[in-house]
Amino acid sequence: MDIAGNLQDILKNIPSGVKVVAVTKTRNPSEIMQLYSAGHRIMGENKVQELADKKEKLPGDIQWHMVGHLQSNKVKYIAPFISFIHSVDSPKLIKIISKEAVKNNRVIDCLVQVHIATEESKFGFSVAEALEFFNGYSPGDFEGVRIRGLMGMATLTSDKELIRSEFRTLSDLYKKIRDIIPAAGENFNELSMGMSDDYKIAVEEGSTIVRIGSLIFGQRTYQ
Ligand SMILES: *Cc1c(COP(=O)(O)O)cnc(C)c1O
Repeated sequence: MDIAGNLQDILKNIPSGVKVVAVTKTRNPSEIMQLYSAGHRIMGENKVQELADKKEKLPGDIQWHMVGHLQSNKVKYIAPFISFIHSVDSPKLIKIISKEAVKNNRVIDCLVQVHIATEESKFGFSVAEALEFFNGYSPGDFEGVRIRGLMGMATLTSDKELIRSEFRTLSDLYKKIRDIIPAAGENFNELSMGMSDDYKIAVEEGSTIVRIGSLIFGQRTYQ
């Protein structure tokens, strides 16, 4: 598996302004170091324990992104170092991230996760809840938290048109929040959508951050 080459192939397919979070879940440090040695610094994990373990074992200049569901009682383990939390799925979680960020004297970049898929099990604000939240939001409401944009996951399906319409829903919401609710602030400029199977569609629909695991590292044998 040419891990660094796989990333290069993906980068060729997307505009240069789009960031790639290499999702390293289930991958060992030597696999991750192949990307690091090729110059890549943005890595993502979906579980707190695995994230904290890898942070210990790998170089300190890696920018770690939390992409999976985050339980409020675990925020304290990642608050000292996390650069981006993609999966902020409730106002309560924002408050806890704020508290832990302040304790660590940090500002943590966050994305509000919006539920766009047809599946029941995915976390996130509904479109209506997100609009309601941002209508009442001003930057500075949560000390230590900078809300940078939105994140969403499309339905796991081979129906490309369904995937596209879900990404478009998220992209439209993102633009609405940016343009109609100026209180979201000038730092509100990231849209995290797209994974191995759907990143090209996501980028066509306006994604600024794609989160890619298996297309870089090969198929996972477990989640
Ligand atoms: C695992 C995971 C990804 C990457 O998935 P691939 O299909 O392997 O690219 C992206 N986002 C989240 C939230 C994930 O848990």
